[in-house]
Amino acid sequence: EKLLEIKALKKHFKLDRTSTLKAVDGISFDIYKGETFGLVGESGCGKSTAGRTIMRLYEATGGEVDFNGDNVHAKKSKKELKKFNREMQMIFQDPYASLNPRMTVKDIIAEGIDIHGLVNTKQERLDRVNELLKTVGLNEDHGNRYPHEFSGGQRQRIGIARALAVDPSFIVADEPISALDVSIQAQVVNLLKRLQKERGLTYLFIAHDLSMVKHISDRVGVMYLGNMAEIATSDDLYAEPLHPYTQALISAIPISDPEVERTRERIIVEGDVPSPVNPPSGCRFRTRCPFAMDVCAKVVPEFLEHKKDHWVACHLYDERYNDEHQARQR
Ligand code: SF4
Ligand code: MG
Repeated sequence: EKLLEIKALKKHFKLDRTSTLKAVDGISFDIYKGETFGLVGESGCGKSTAGRTIMRLYEATGGEVDFNGDNVHAKKSKKELKKFNREMQMIFQDPYASLNPRMTVKDIIAEGIDIHGLVNTKQERLDRVNELLKTVGLNEDHGNRYPHEFSGGQRQRIGIARALAVDPSFIVADEPISALDVSIQAQVVNLLKRLQKERGLTYLFIAHDLSMVKHISDRVGVMYLGNMAEIATSDDLYAEPLHPYTQALISAIPISDPEVERTRERIIVEGDVPSPVNPPSGCRFRTRCPFAMDVCAKVVPEFLEHKKDHWVACHLYDERYNDEHQARQR
């Protein structure tokens, strides 16, 4: 069952009179109720902008985001917007930057409770905060302290408690573990997984590295330069990556067995990501793709379902164009 339908979503930023940064340039995908959808790509590929536009923190330049069948970007009354704000919450990469240093943890967590008027008395408010602290593995005493008194992992727990306070159904987690020590990362991932089970949450989990989303995601979308390159179930994507960019990302994940590491095939991608102000014509990946064909400079690859639930935007899998590729291989 679909919770969100993202349809040809665009977010452009006008830089000056003549140039526009096409951060997100027409991406479409669904997010199902109760799943974790991992969104992956190098920095600058537009994944954070996509997350924020889906949350309505940015106004969309084009396209649509349907939440339970309702376009969140269509004009809404204040009351309706408040409802969306409650349903959709965000967890940030750097919880410290997003926690007000002058507020106690208790007040930080209670902010949404106050805004949405979810309790009637001070005691109810305190009970609710204490319950949330416990849920994320902190205790009541922590509520009276300030953000700087906590470690990175604890701050992320505070950020999670704050997001949960208004009882959302959908959470965008923007690189929630990237800034944490490796030993802490698994704890936060496990906490997120437990909360998902207990509360039936749906996650959009953003990361720059495929190994980070592997264990938490049901499905994964790979973004490149404002476009979606590939979407598949987690298992499928790792077992049989189709897009050359995904293949490169996967072959860059270190394998602990030195024998496998030595003998495996690697797809190496050279050069830097081109500017999203002036993206390459045709396929945006063509300037770095080891398999690029003539058609790749001329025609934008369509996003096609190569096999069930496995989508890819690459001419190698499009019958209309892959003759060229096969001819070259012969
Ligand atoms: Fe490479 Fe062409 Fe496929 Fe783009 S469409 S990924 S350039 S083969
Ligand atoms: Mg980012």
